Amino acid sequence: MIEIKPLISVENLTVEFPVRGSAVRAVDDVSFEVGHGEIVGLVGESASGKSTLGLSLMRMVPSPGRVRARRMEFDGRDLSALDESQLRQIRGSEISLIVQDALATMNPVTTVLEQITEVVRDHEGVRSRRVLRARAAQALRDVQLPDVEINLRRYPHELSGGMQQRVAIAQGLILGPKLIIADEPTTALDVTVQAQILSLLKQIRDGGTSIIFVTHDLATVAEICDRVLVMYAGRIVESGTVAEVFAEPQHPYTQGLLASLLPLGGDPPKRLDAISGQPPRPEAWPSGCRFHPRCPLWKSKGEPEICVNEDPQPDESRTHWAACHFAGEGVR
Ligand code: ATP
Ligand code: MG
Repeated sequence: MIEIKPLISVENLTVEFPVRGSAVRAVDDVSFEVGHGEIVGLVGESASGKSTLGLSLMRMVPSPGRVRARRMEFDGRDLSALDESQLRQIRGSEISLIVQDALATMNPVTTVLEQITEVVRDHEGVRSRRVLRARAAQALRDVQLPDVEINLRRYPHELSGGMQQRVAIAQGLILGPKLIIADEPTTALDVTVQAQILSLLKQIRDGGTSIIFVTHDLATVAEICDRVLVMYAGRIVESGTVAEVFAEPQHPYTQGLLASLLPLGGDPPKRLDAISGQPPRPEAWPSGCRFHPRCPLWKSKGEPEICVNEDPQPDESRTHWAACHFAGEGVR
């Protein structure tokens, strides 16, 4: 049997920021893989480290942040061994980043045409205006933007939010990347446009591109992702296929996130604030299991010491695992 290697394989990735003389770990010792043509959801509350993790794959963590990893392999190459010019070559052409606020990443004084063909000029050295125009028009058709010829001449602020996001996606796709990191790409959009962008991302995945989809929203994960990584306090606390994690969440944190989802019909949810308390800050991650101070299972079990003293280790040999001393038990 031929073994198909994952597109990206990360082992023991840590991202530290120096803060007042010490280093805080926004991402702490995470390992994961993303397969070819797979959408992997990265979900968790604010400040859990999702965006920092995404940026670290592009080696774009802002200075003085420090990225370390035992292994960070992308399509057969070691990302941590590349120099700045090799990384520039990879960014955009092989890995591209799509963010929440498309408008903020655009140059207000350049047209959509110039905006999305800049990377084609930079990376492929194409100079012919005719060729650039044809490439841009095709890229916009690929993301189903209407009135392509008119929109190519427009400036970013002349487009609606959904159209801006499509242009950003077209720009991210124009060089045919193998991996897209989409950091909350639909959060700022209304529900209808959101659904259209999600279905577009699914089509892109069906074309063979892998996607890391960063979101707060488990409902979106259920809709478009193949697998999900749940982040809490800089760690991945649960990993599995969407089917596995939604059918049988093993970590009390994931169970809480799922319980807070609004049901699509029927009875209203029993409690919307399923996870009480605030997420911790990286300056003060709790000892042992970082979730224990907020964990209903820990409380219901009489606050066992192991959760306070020992960092739970996941069984990564399984396809579905959770880093919890009492994984899978749930509060009864
Ligand atoms: P959100 O859902 O709000 O986007 P997130 O999960 O994407 O949150 P990150 O933006 O990755 O979280 O931030 C993780 C932690 O890293 C935060 O506590 C943040 O304060 C810290 N952090 C991020 N960037 C920096 C920086 N440049 N300097 C210091 N700390 C930083
Ligand atoms: Mg973020």
